[in-house]
Amino acid sequence: MITTCLSLVLDLGGAAAAKQAATHGVRVIVAEQEAIGGTCTNRGCIPKKLMVYAADFALRNQVAHNYGWSDCQRHIDWSQFMTAVHQHIESIHQSYLQTFQKAGIELIRGHATFVDAHTVELDGRQFTADKILIAVGGQPIKPDVPGIEHAITSDGMFELQQLPKQLAIIGGGYIGVEFSSMMNALGVEVTLMDTNELILEGFDDDVRSAVQQGLSNRGIRFLNNTTAKEIKPGSQGLQLILSGDCKDLTADTVLVATGRAPNTKNLGLENAEVEVGKKGVIKVDEYSRTTQKHIFAVGDCTDRVPLTPVARAEGRAVAMTAFGDKPQKVNYDYVTSAVFARPEAATVGMTEAQAREKFGELVQCHHTEFAPLFYRLTKQDEQVMMKLVVDGNSDRVLGAHMVGEHAAEIIQSLAIAIRKGVTKQDIDATIGIHPTTGEEFLLLD
Ligand SMILES: Cc1cc2nc3c(=O)[nH]c(=O)nc-3n(C[C@H](O)[C@H](O)[C@H](O)COP(=O)(O)OP(=O)(O)OC[C@H]3O[C@@H](n4cnc5c(N)ncnc54)[C@H](O)[C@@H]3O)c2cc1C
Repeated sequence: MITTCLSLVLDLGGAAAAKQAATHGVRVIVAEQEAIGGTCTNRGCIPKKLMVYAADFALRNQVAHNYGWSDCQRHIDWSQFMTAVHQHIESIHQSYLQTFQKAGIELIRGHATFVDAHTVELDGRQFTADKILIAVGGQPIKPDVPGIEHAITSDGMFELQQLPKQLAIIGGGYIGVEFSSMMNALGVEVTLMDTNELILEGFDDDVRSAVQQGLSNRGIRFLNNTTAKEIKPGSQGLQLILSGDCKDLTADTVLVATGRAPNTKNLGLENAEVEVGKKGVIKVDEYSRTTQKHIFAVGDCTDRVPLTPVARAEGRAVAMTAFGDKPQKVNYDYVTSAVFARPEAATVGMTEAQAREKFGELVQCHHTEFAPLFYRLTKQDEQVMMKLVVDGNSDRVLGAHMVGEHAAEIIQSLAIAIRKGVTKQDIDATIGIHPTTGEEFLLLD
């Protein structure tokens, strides 16, 4: 009998599992209802990072004269840029298709739904499989506020025909913060509101305040402890009625970035007796098995860490569990993450608050703030913040947090050492590269 792993979706969770499963000689079918590559390729990480790069030119231009440059171009041709972005995305689609073809993975376009626990209907046909993987991802959700239909979500940010003049952002999670940063650099007047005291809930408090301060210095207006109660079209644009004592706000574009929900409606999960929890999140065990042991779920449709490399790792682990010799779990302890704002933030391991909760008074934090060399020739007040959270008892580094240029690249490398149990003494004994920003992690008091 041919074993079929029917991967309901795609993107990285599904694609990674499909590729790994194919190496075990399994017949693999992937269902995809939209563009191949999922959120990350089409409406997430990739186009977003390209926008960050586009915005970086504007920031570099602002200080280029301090380095002796003159006549720097100050205008972006938005439509030319977006055409280039879409061409790149198209090249990724082609590369997926080639990889699938090479691996013998069959891609079938259409919306897949469960008929029963072993059967999926797709494109008017029914497919039966021993093992099924659900990696349907998620989509942005909007809060229940009058007039919210006038607001766009992150999906809409990738379809802008032109740059807004004023952008109001509801929600200070990493997606709202990243768009605030790049739009501000591109000359858009940005106001960001968040219901918390500080943006970036869940990150270390020093990271949260350093990013908010850095973005405020660039001219972004933050309205903390605030949300929009209503959005109304008016003669000047969209009028936002705000909570608390804040005056109304007017903007031509409103971005709502208040969360995402899994794509588990209309999937027929009830026909397969796959249980979901709050907000339609699929319940899974540590091997990504749903309440049906032969049906797995990975990525943003489960309640774990909604990031591309995590979805990918979960997908590969599922293929190993289902078809390899040994079941495989994913370790979520040292998942690195970044906020591609300017200043950039990146983090791995425990925040100070999490460490104190676990280790109490024994926790030691080593912290520095300094002006990076690049900005010393300019008048801009740019600061780098670095922090190591250490278990004072064993000297083991529990977490590393950084705000400033290249934070993501620096933390990513440090993460390997931290995952392997590096101590503060090991870090102090390492001789760094001079002059770099990263070397300051090796010189913390
Ligand atoms: C604006 C934005 C920026 C982001 N930036 C980053 C970043 O910088 N770094 C990072 O690591 N992560 C980032 N993410 C998160 C990342 O995109 C997701 O964590 C990742 O894409 C999750 O992968 P997935 O496989 O779970 O689902 P998805 O990528 O969402 O893929 C699911 C796929 O399933 C398809 N599908 C759904 N239902 C069906 C069905 N019934 N039948 C057939 N096909 C179906 C969908 O069309 C989609 O293609 C970002 C997300 C957003 C929105």
